[in-house]
Amino acid sequence: MEGEFVLKVTEFVLSKMAERKEVGSVIKQLLQMVGEHFGLYHIALVEKQKRMTSFTITYEYCGQGCPVKRNHVLNFTQEEWQQSLKFLKEDMMYYESGEAAGNDKILSSVNRSTGGAFCIALLEHQGEKAAALLFKYKEAGHIFSEEEKMSFAMARQLVNLYLLPVRNYETDRMELQRVKNYDMVTGLMKYESFLQVAEGTYRNDETDAVYAIVYSDINNFKYVNEYYGYLAGDDILRKFEQVLLSASPLQLVATRLFSDYFISLVKITNFTTEQMLVAMLEQQNRRFAEALLKIYPDAKVSVASGIAFIKDNSISILNYVDCANIARKRLKKNFGATCLVYDESMEAQQKKEIEITSQAEAALFLGEFYFELQPKINLDSNTVIGAEALVRWKQSNGKKWLPDEFIPVFEKNGFITRLDFMVYTEVCRYLRERIKKGQSIVPISVNVSRMHFETDDFVERVIRLVDSYAVPHNYLEFEITESVFIDHLEKTRVAIRRLREAGFLVSMDDFGSGYSSLNLLKELDFDVLKLDKDFLASGTLDKKESVIISNIIKMAKQMDIKVLCEGVETQEQASFLAQADCDLVQGYYYGKPMQIEVFDDLLGEDFGKMF
Ligand code: C2E
Ligand code: MG
Ligand code: MG
Repeated sequence: MEGEFVLKVTEFVLSKMAERKEVGSVIKQLLQMVGEHFGLYHIALVEKQKRMTSFTITYEYCGQGCPVKRNHVLNFTQEEWQQSLKFLKEDMMYYESGEAAGNDKILSSVNRSTGGAFCIALLEHQGEKAAALLFKYKEAGHIFSEEEKMSFAMARQLVNLYLLPVRNYETDRMELQRVKNYDMVTGLMKYESFLQVAEGTYRNDETDAVYAIVYSDINNFKYVNEYYGYLAGDDILRKFEQVLLSASPLQLVATRLFSDYFISLVKITNFTTEQMLVAMLEQQNRRFAEALLKIYPDAKVSVASGIAFIKDNSISILNYVDCANIARKRLKKNFGATCLVYDESMEAQQKKEIEITSQAEAALFLGEFYFELQPKINLDSNTVIGAEALVRWKQSNGKKWLPDEFIPVFEKNGFITRLDFMVYTEVCRYLRERIKKGQSIVPISVNVSRMHFETDDFVERVIRLVDSYAVPHNYLEFEITESVFIDHLEKTRVAIRRLREAGFLVSMDDFGSGYSSLNLLKELDFDVLKLDKDFLASGTLDKKESVIISNIIKMAKQMDIKVLCEGVETQEQASFLAQADCDLVQGYYYGKPMQIEVFDDLLGEDFGKMF
């Protein structure tokens, strides 16, 4: 019966789609039904490729004797297709003689044999005639019946209006999925996928192999972006991805968390030890940095990797990622090491840092921070000629934190600049109070965090503050530690000059504690050189130390710089320093940092008054 087959085909397609069968297989089955029913030689669905100018046979039915060429890319271009379209006036065209004027090119590309009768059905995609169905008989001279015409037209409709749109929607969704699951810059899988794959890998491994999570960060990456541009930045990210996945066969999967943070899963096989793994990663990071130095010489890129060994397969991967990250953060950028293995003490430290950070704001609000004063003594006159203000933190529950515990944390999160200004304010308030009461005052020194040099208005803020308390500038001294001079030479030079021009005193703190260079003394103008307490730390002075100290004092004097020796704890040290012509001392021997009232009493009595 006419129309019966059309109905059957339609029903078939609709039912398969209702069952959510994969579209591609439904298209294939549809072509097969039509092909077999009419004894066709070949049916091909030709489609223009997305974002490309070429065409491909995406699905086909090959009848008896017809060679199969799966995913055959056709060698005609967009222009040739457009040319052919001019001759296809209707959506369904029948060529019973097997010849088609103007369509030779497209036909010869698709054709598996020339000369047979055929029908071309044009399909639309996104408003463009970008696909065609070709129904072909082997022999020429075939007369197309009404049933054939109806069936081919229905097949066209089903593919055109229904199957291809569903298929395209699905491929778009898959593409979206790909964008969602993979990082577009490096091609690495995204973090969530990585977690799943990596965790599955070590959990399903029943051998004795040991795994580790490596958390890496590219130092100075921001600088590359700013200095060489984002393309260079992307280039570095891709290069690092190649290092991660190809340099060592031990690295299994990797992800880029964000920016320049990479995480990978590494496997230690029978032939490798933990130490060997660390050595291999060290070498990998170093080589990467060396290679980049050649391409981006000004960037001084390096890699810091924290490593956490997976000791217990039942613990979530997130825990190990955190541990590796903690180890990474402990790595100091400038000291050469590029890898650090996580251990439990780091976790305690991490917890402490979190506690400190989370309570800082409230502590400032509740007035838990205050300062103590440690006297500075003039060795000639044995009088107190000043004091250093040292910050203290006592929580309302009685818990005390040491400056060495909280200051490094506040330097990292920036809170130190507010804390310093709180100390400066309290010191000004203290001095104003004594001036108001007609009491004598001595210069008080305060410490300056390196963070202040990240801004340009530090000196102006200081001047505004001190003036608001009407404290004479020469009663305030700013202690800047040596390493700041080295890291920010230009900015500190400017700041020191402006502070001194404004009448404040400036000292270089902790001289000799780091990579101090005597050249610094020449380059910078400051009032006091504070010798680090480590020079005296051993308790007894050996010959070498005494020679060094005496010579630094001598040199500084020649440059009109006063020398203060920190950490004086014994009578013996004090007399050595007096002999070496040291001007000033500070240390437990003379007085530990003390409460303000205690210091005030000291000013009046023990050491005699200066003013
Ligand atoms: P610093 O500026 O070098 O301060 C001297 C440190 O040596 C103080 O430690 C002081 O208590 C200690 N000290 C003094 N005499 C002796 C001694 O004879 N023997 C020994 N062993 N130690 C002595 P403190 O108060 O724990 O402060 C440590 C560091 O924290 C300071 O070193 C300074 O760098 C920083 N700091 C303290 N207060 C502030 C502040 O308000 N702001 C900033 N940014 N840093 C501060
Ligand atoms: Mg100091
Ligand atoms: Mg010091």
